[in-house]
Parts: sequence; C-alpha cells; structure tokens
Amino acid sequence: MKYCIITFGCQANKSDSEKIASFLEKNGLQKTSEKEADFVVINSCSVRQSAVDRMEAKIREIKKRKKPPVTALTGCVLQKDKKKLKPFFDYMLPEKELFPQKIPFLKKGFLKEAPKREKPTAYITIMSGCDNFCSYCVVPYTKGRESSRPAKEVVEEAKKTIKEGYRDIWLLGQNVNSYKGGVKFSNLLREINKIRGDFWVRFTSSHPKDFSSDIISVIKNCKKITNYLHLPVQSGDDEILKKMNRSYTSEQYKKAVNEAKKEIPGLSVSTDIIVGFPGETEKQFHNTVKLVKEIGFDMIYIGRYSPRMQTAAYNMKETVSEEEKRRREKILEELLKESNLEKNKKLVGRKIRVLTTQMTKKNLLSGKTEGYKSVLFKGPKSLIGEFVKIKITGYSSWGLKGKISRK
Ligand code: SF4
Repeated sequence: MKYCIITFGCQANKSDSEKIASFLEKNGLQKTSEKEADFVVINSCSVRQSAVDRMEAKIREIKKRKKPPVTALTGCVLQKDKKKLKPFFDYMLPEKELFPQKIPFLKKGFLKEAPKREKPTAYITIMSGCDNFCSYCVVPYTKGRESSRPAKEVVEEAKKTIKEGYRDIWLLGQNVNSYKGGVKFSNLLREINKIRGDFWVRFTSSHPKDFSSDIISVIKNCKKITNYLHLPVQSGDDEILKKMNRSYTSEQYKKAVNEAKKEIPGLSVSTDIIVGFPGETEKQFHNTVKLVKEIGFDMIYIGRYSPRMQTAAYNMKETVSEEEKRRREKILEELLKESNLEKNKKLVGRKIRVLTTQMTKKNLLSGKTEGYKSVLFKGPKSLIGEFVKIKITGYSSWGLKGKISRK
C-alpha cells in the first residue's frame, strides 16, 4: 500500500507529519505522490480560513478520482469544520492521538514514533498548545492548553538528531518563551548549545510579552544559536493590539527589538502581521506601516484577517473589505521588498556561511544563511546538508546568489 501526507500550516504540523510518515512506514506503507496514493492523510490547519478552503478544495479533488483513496484527516480542525468535512474522510483523527483508532491496514493503534525527517532540518517540538487566547486565534481551542516536554527529553532528542547529521535544529512551540519543562527556555537553549557538533539552532514562535534580555544574551553568547529571531507583532497600533489581547504595546515591542538589534549585530528579525482586523482604520493600519518602516524586518508573514469560530474576535463586527485587506497586504509587501533589496545589495562581495538545504528544479543548490536568507549557487548534490562558504555575487528582494568560495 502507498501513502501520501498533505500538510497545511506551520512547522509544528510539518513535524507531526514527519511522525505520521515514520509510523506509516513502520506499518509497511510506502511514500508516493498524491496521485498514486492508496491512503491520503491530510494534516490540516484551521488558523486561517484560507487554509481550510484550500484543504476542502484538495479533498474534493482527491475524492473525485475514479478510484478514490482511503482518506484520513488530522491536525488543527475546529468542530464546525470537522462536521462539514466528515463526508470526505474515512477517518477523523484527533489532534493529540494521531492514530488512536483501528485502521484495518495499520497494525498498531497509537502513534509514538520518531519522526521521519529530511536532512538537514530537524524539527523538535518542545511544547504544544497555548494559554494566551489572542482574540483572533483558534490554537487554544484546537491544540488545547500549554504543555511542555521535559528538558531532558528535548536535549536527548537534540543530541540524537545532531549525531545523525542534522544541522538545522528548530525548536517548536506556540510560545517557546513560556517553556516550562523543568528549566527556563534560555537555559534549554544553553544546554543544546553545549552539544558537540557543527549545527545551528532556531526557535519559533516567541511572544513579545515573554521575550526577555536573557534570550538576547543567549543568542549573543551561544555560537550555535542563530542570530535569527521570529517575533510576531501582529499590529503596530496599540488599540488593535489591545483588541487582539496581545498584552504589549507597539513601544514595548520596538524597545525589545531595538535592544536585541543593538546587542546582536546582524540580527535578522521576522514577524507576523494581520491586516484588516475588525475595526482597523486607515490610521491604525498606518501605525503598522510606521512600525514596519522603523524596524526594517527581514521577513513578514502577512495574514489577511479571517474570523474563526469560537474566538473572541468572531463576534466583532468586520469593517475591512477583502479588497481593502488585499491593498493593505500589498503595501506591506512592497515595503518589505524595498527594504530587503537595500539590505541584500549590501551583502554583495561578502563571504557568508550557508547551510545547503536542497537542489532546485533549475539544478542550483539552495541554502540558508544564519539569518535565514535564501542563497542560490552552483555545486554538487553531495553538498546538501553541509555548511559551505559562499561569496555573494547577486541579489533580489527575496534572496541572494553566489558562488562557492574556497577560502
Ligand atoms: S500566542 Fe496567541 S496567536 Fe500565538 S498560538 Fe497562542 S493564542 Fe494563538
């Protein structure tokens, strides 16, 4: 029997999909393309309505096949979406226990597998769920309350993956700064930094309210913790932040990022922003524009607001049209494009350490810098998973080009 897993959403979902893959292969199933699969698992995300819509379109298309495969749905799914999607799936699997029920061609029930990862990246989930209840977010309802894995277990997993040759370690959680696995998060990072080997560590996501100078000091002083910080701001307007239940002001956010940038030269900062939150006026959006200009983010993941059932914002009156949300999104995209172009231009001629991640369709190698910028360069496939020194020769808004430097 052959399987295919279709994943929507964040790295946490990707990490769960890796565990599902490992579990299915232990049961004798082979990985294949979506078209050839006898068993399709959709690992979903309902954080945004657009992901639910894409997922629904996908499963409708799959079920239209002459010989439709067996299908299972798991991941973050709201009760209302589950009801709607039920006719398309043979199995609906709860988020926490991915394979609790008997599926005839799977020998065992519960999923307790080491993930089937692809080098050089190893996602390690350190905590799940969230206690923050931001007014637009379904995570506390789909993933439940915060729970942390014991630090000892996390460090052991990190040691194992590093020994196996993984060099890009991502620690995942909805709010890693409130990690409570026996040690505080900054000390967990310090422990992992001590592991022998050549590797990089990244973590996501951080909540600005819990971000501390202790984390800044770890990034600054621990060589293997990358100078890359993902710190979602969501809006640059204090009133909107309050309505979002984010418990910080734009000033506090700016202060935290400026302190981090001052302490860590060359720090890359990415963020998440929602445009068109209920009631967001032109002036309030302008405050977000101002913040974006002031900070000069290296990446912005922009979401157009969509109401999600069960959340507090679901009952707020939507005031921004889809067209206007798109316009605001475009404005932020343009700002990002411009500032990235300027920043990337300055890197031409520099020699930068890059971790090779994959071969592109155009037969070029692609890799990431410590600050998570993409770099394209020529080289043999054998370099995938290796660190290389690249001399930067070209740039665009979205990445860099270069050639391998021997020195
Ligand atoms: S911090 Fe807020 S946005 Fe992030 S997962 Fe928790 S509730 Fe959702």
